[in-house]
Amino acid sequence: MQAGPNRDDYVRWRREVIARGEYGKNIHELNGRTIMMQHHPMKDGGWVTTHEDITEQRQHEERIRHLARHDALTQLPNRVQFLEEMAAAEPGLARGEHIAVLCIDLDHFKSVNDTLGHSLGDKLLQQVSARLWGATRENDLLARLGGDEFALLLRGVDNPAEAAAIAERIVKAMANPFTIDGHQLVIGTSVGIAMAPQDGDTSEILMKNADLALYKAKNEGRSTYHFFESGMDAAIQKRRTIEAGLRLALAKGELRLVFQPLVGLKENRITCLEALLRWDTADRGTISPTEFIPIAEETGLIVAIGEWVLREACRTAAGWPSDVRVAVNLSPVQFKNKRLFETVEAALRDTGLAPTRLELEITESLLLSDNEPTLKTLHKLRALGVRISMDDFGTGYSSLSYLRSFPFDKIKIDRSFMRDLKAKGDSLAIIKAVIGLGQSLGMSTTAEGIETEEQLAAVRDQGCNEVQGFLFSPPISAEAVTDMLAGQAGASRRRLHRVS
Ligand code: C2E
Ligand code: MG
Ligand code: MG
Repeated sequence: MQAGPNRDDYVRWRREVIARGEYGKNIHELNGRTIMMQHHPMKDGGWVTTHEDITEQRQHEERIRHLARHDALTQLPNRVQFLEEMAAAEPGLARGEHIAVLCIDLDHFKSVNDTLGHSLGDKLLQQVSARLWGATRENDLLARLGGDEFALLLRGVDNPAEAAAIAERIVKAMANPFTIDGHQLVIGTSVGIAMAPQDGDTSEILMKNADLALYKAKNEGRSTYHFFESGMDAAIQKRRTIEAGLRLALAKGELRLVFQPLVGLKENRITCLEALLRWDTADRGTISPTEFIPIAEETGLIVAIGEWVLREACRTAAGWPSDVRVAVNLSPVQFKNKRLFETVEAALRDTGLAPTRLELEITESLLLSDNEPTLKTLHKLRALGVRISMDDFGTGYSSLSYLRSFPFDKIKIDRSFMRDLKAKGDSLAIIKAVIGLGQSLGMSTTAEGIETEEQLAAVRDQGCNEVQGFLFSPPISAEAVTDMLAGQAGASRRRLHRVS
């Protein structure tokens, strides 16, 4: 029964309430206000009704309810509401309904936030939300889960192609630059997709699987989407274990360097040793750098690890005869760090190693993008006296323009050419061409992966300057290097074929 919109209605209604002997609380909407009435019959037969305008209190409660379920920055539903609606969709799955869950994560948000500040980061998130929202459909639920993480619930999607089309639309929409406070920002987005019921029938499993698919999309180079696949769990779990272990490896002293000799063919002695990382874990034995360096690069851990490698290599080499150099591998990610030059300089200064005794090995991939700052750092390092080598030459684009873009001191010919020397005639032709190129550009050449006398003879014939490979020695400990160099000094006159 309503209290009525006008005075007469109200009086009539009040009489009826009294006649029925009703008491207690009643809430009424009257002329746009919310009124709470409390009816109290008195002992003497009288009647008291209190009227309280609770409009503001109601609005306040409504606001709190809204805040609890929405993200304050973007006004999108938050994780609480998203999970509520996911849970609400669960019973439908049992009845054969279909949904898709998309986990959406920005690719380079952290660096924007760190370099340009949080207020700009907030504005970016607002624009991102608007753009994401624009890519969704009427019935979809877009939520911000926190940070730069968003989620999208697609209802009534029974075909993966539909979910893929939306994911693709999102990735595309986000690939365009954002303009904020005069800054052009390119961030990009990765998306992981789980379909229900096939990829799970509870919110929890679906969210976890969409997240695993997202992780995969990130590892596939970002700005892409990926569907959940069975088996992903185990593979990603392994990666995550490596990632977590690697974070602690430095502090726990689990990293160590081994050194592999590079033999000068004219000098007929060890001219240089390449420092190679090893990671000794308690539970999984020694892990190869080919397995953990990519993860260290993706997580940015390579910066701290690389600095440790530099210092450790310089410190070790400082104890060697002064005509023996040390080579250190640098990852392209280390060049993104603006302090790389200072790090190298400090490592040399603190260990007392002459800059001319340090060789830094880089790969072609470093020169693929963002050339300018990289070349500047390389020139600065070279001006210091440090030598720069092009590692694994022949495996990437092998563009001659890379060799022309910087005066490398050394080209290291990838070991895949030595492996194919016998089987493929063109390998020898390529080795020959690279050595000739090095000679005319004033760069020395090193053949990697020399395992047989035959290979040695072939590269020697072509005029290669230096060789590295199991024929001479595998990578060995720092102690073994000391012994080997001492032996070399004693036998300096002897022709050096096999050092180990
Ligand atoms: P790389 O720089 O090309 O190093 C040479 C790799 O070839 C080493 O593998 C070495 O053990 C292997 N090798 C040497 N001689 C032979 C041979 O005769 N036959 C064959 N089959 N292999 C030979 P390793 O130590 O497993 O390192 C693999 C890669 O990991 C390195 O390739 C380098 O790219 C990377 N790496 C190692 N240490 C570091 C580091 O401290 N920092 C960075 N950024 N990368 C590193
Ligand atoms: Mg190398
Ligand atoms: Mg190499």
